Amino acid sequence: MSEDTKPRIKQTETLDPKDWAAFHADAHRMLDLALEKMMTAREGRVWTPFPDPLKSRHSKDLSGAGFGPEKTQSQIEALLPYGVGNTHPRFFGWVHGSGTPSNLIADIAASAMNANCGGRDHAAIYVERQVVAWCRDMFDFPETSSGLVVSGTSMATLIAVKAARDKVQAFSARQTGMSGTKLVGYTSSEAHSCIARTFDILGLGTDALRKVAVNDAFQMDTDALQTAIQADMDAGFQPFLIAATVGTVNVGSIDPLLEISKIATKHDLWMHIDGAFGACAILADGQKAKLDGIEAADSIAFDFHKWLHVNYDAGLALMRSEETHRRAFAANPDYLKRADEGLAAGDPWPVDYGPELSRSFRALKVWAQLAEHGPDKLGRLIDQNCDQAQYLAELVDAHPKLKRVAPVDLNICCFVYNGDEALNEKIVIRLQTDGIAAPSTTRINGQLAIRVNITNHRTQYSDLDLLVAEIIRIGDELSVV
Ligand SMILES: *Cc1c(COP(=O)(O)O)cnc(C)c1O
Repeated sequence: MSEDTKPRIKQTETLDPKDWAAFHADAHRMLDLALEKMMTAREGRVWTPFPDPLKSRHSKDLSGAGFGPEKTQSQIEALLPYGVGNTHPRFFGWVHGSGTPSNLIADIAASAMNANCGGRDHAAIYVERQVVAWCRDMFDFPETSSGLVVSGTSMATLIAVKAARDKVQAFSARQTGMSGTKLVGYTSSEAHSCIARTFDILGLGTDALRKVAVNDAFQMDTDALQTAIQADMDAGFQPFLIAATVGTVNVGSIDPLLEISKIATKHDLWMHIDGAFGACAILADGQKAKLDGIEAADSIAFDFHKWLHVNYDAGLALMRSEETHRRAFAANPDYLKRADEGLAAGDPWPVDYGPELSRSFRALKVWAQLAEHGPDKLGRLIDQNCDQAQYLAELVDAHPKLKRVAPVDLNICCFVYNGDEALNEKIVIRLQTDGIAAPSTTRINGQLAIRVNITNHRTQYSDLDLLVAEIIRIGDELSVV
């Protein structure tokens, strides 16, 4: 065949399935397995360590030809039993939401649409705006507020604190950087590390985040806050932000928001709320009074994947001033030019409110959770968890071998089994490795404690009876030498 008799049409390749019927069957099989996993969430072990053969399978190099569809799917299926355990009713570690079966449906739809939600004019943008508006109303924020659905509270904190930092410098740091500033901010000694991390990432430095002492209830001591602000001003520093916590990670305490907001107003400081899980208690009739003052904040960072049980991951940066929010992030390069019509319409775009351009349609699963279950039921489940934490506190207080080490204000109960720290640590590890339950540990006033956090819509009171009985059984067993 000579050069000019070669066919002109070249063969093309695609990543679509060669055999759609087989793909259909595979997809249905995975759906059945996923549903089975969710239907049986209460059964079996809480956590199972990832087995060695699978660890070694996942440490092998990738061959040029890949695995093909069957082997790939079978290897995905093999992962299903080895989650963190947070779908189980006796997962009580750290702060994890437990997810919902119906969020699976939203995830499938979002994946099929494969929308890039950095901007442009398409359905997902309107869904995200509705999520932001619903949250704005939840916290009684004004219509001029704005928000961005992000991966979680860490990212939301970064966005909020950057806006606060830029505003106090009339947005000049966006061009000139951070050299020579003496900005300082305040949070309590119980605050989550994501606030210090934000100070690091934003070039403020972690030293510029002052850790204010807490009172006996683990809430920020506002006298100490006043003193720290005054001392910094006297020393030539420039206070710009107070980050209050609604639901501290150790014990679930809530900083005194009304007093903090007065101090923030007096000194013209930005009031930020880390409400990762606790802010959602605004939906719970039995808890919301504890959050009085949150509506005065300049920004709130919180998670949908914790107490609203949206499947990982999703959080929100909610900002009182849309203008400040946009001025802290917007930039308009030619290739992202807006139009009045067509696909490039729909200004403002999410990219104007945060560091990410390409973004998934994360807002859909949030929207679906709020839309299907409604704020009333989601709030009742938060009250249920708080009541369960009180119930656990009663069990602990009634048991001669257990001692509570912190008050229970929301959903976290910290206590120790009668014995040393090493024993308490061992009890928690045994509960986890035996698959019985998964609390975690923390330090309360320097002392190691068993920490039970209940952000779990599947937990029943009997799960807490079982937890206490097993702690006593294991503790007694390990105490006999
Ligand atoms: C979980 C948590 C965070 C961090 O949130 P992510 O969603 O994990 O980034 C921050 N603050 C508190 C109080 C938390 O509980």
